[in-house]
Amino acid sequence: MDTPHIEAPRQMPPQAPGMGRRPGRLWSLEVVGAKDLNPRMRRVTLTGGDLDELTYKPGQDLVLQMPLPDGTTGRRHYTIRHFDPAAKLLDIDFVLHGDSPSGNWALAARPGDRIEAMGPRGRVVLNPEADWHLFTGDETCIPGILGMVEILPSYAHAWAFVEIADATDKQPVESKARLNFEWIERKGAPAGPSELMLNRVKAFTPPPGRGHAYLIGETSNVRAQRHDLMARGLAKEQIAAEGYWRPGRLGGHDHIEERPA
Ligand SMILES: Cc1cc2nc3c(=O)[nH]c(=O)nc-3n(C[C@H](O)[C@H](O)[C@H](O)COP(=O)(O)OP(=O)(O)OC[C@H]3O[C@@H](n4cnc5c(N)ncnc54)[C@H](O)[C@@H]3O)c2cc1C
Repeated sequence: MDTPHIEAPRQMPPQAPGMGRRPGRLWSLEVVGAKDLNPRMRRVTLTGGDLDELTYKPGQDLVLQMPLPDGTTGRRHYTIRHFDPAAKLLDIDFVLHGDSPSGNWALAARPGDRIEAMGPRGRVVLNPEADWHLFTGDETCIPGILGMVEILPSYAHAWAFVEIADATDKQPVESKARLNFEWIERKGAPAGPSELMLNRVKAFTPPPGRGHAYLIGETSNVRAQRHDLMARGLAKEQIAAEGYWRPGRLGGHDHIEERPA
């Protein structure tokens, strides 16, 4: 059954209850269509009356007010994969990681369904000043990493390592840059804390110049990679890191800082 269309205020007040620290604009979105990109990734296309006013940087996300089984809603972060302001269309790609509110919502999404979103937000965006770029993440980061490599200029030099379950998760990669893109398959291991990406990062030799690393994905994996790169001389200003999920956590995100000694 369609949910009723609730007219939302155009700007959330600061510290609005349940809406987090950063105020942002609220968007009332409507599903236009949905399709499977592969067995574990489903794209939902959304529209909104004022969506042509959205501005964002690839890598940024919206906080969706996801319907929960108990009838309330919970915050879930999802990256803006594509946006066409003229058509007022926005794509969000959902990883289907099991029985979860967001995956179930994406699987059931039908034209006319509605969802509220806030944002855009997020600091893991391209640093145009960097001499080289390193992107790492798991399948939840494919929308962000593909979005960022797509806007790299032709003179940019970049590496992207993306952890996936198996080859069926691969997607076409487009970039004008000198891009070394690697899909790293888990080969039957579950998603989550592991040394797979850490080992790949350890084998990466930063080229000369001042680079920028974009480390996203499961929180403990991101933290370990950040620690390794800082131990090898990268300054914290050269690393944008965010935990996208972790076992047992429902929605939200983790700021990644060095653990106290
Ligand atoms: C800035 C940002 C951008 C993001 N962009 C995307 C995106 O574009 N596409 C996308 O699919 N995800 C993205 N994520 C990750 C997504 O928000 C989380 O995976 C979220 O927890 C999914 O909500 P859910 O309702 O499916 O599961 P939840 O109700 O949050 O969690 C249910 C259970 O599933 C576990 N879980 C959550 N995610 C995963 C996973 N990926 N694999 C295995 N177990 C998991 C949880 O630990 C929990 O135990 C992003 C996260 C952040 C912070």
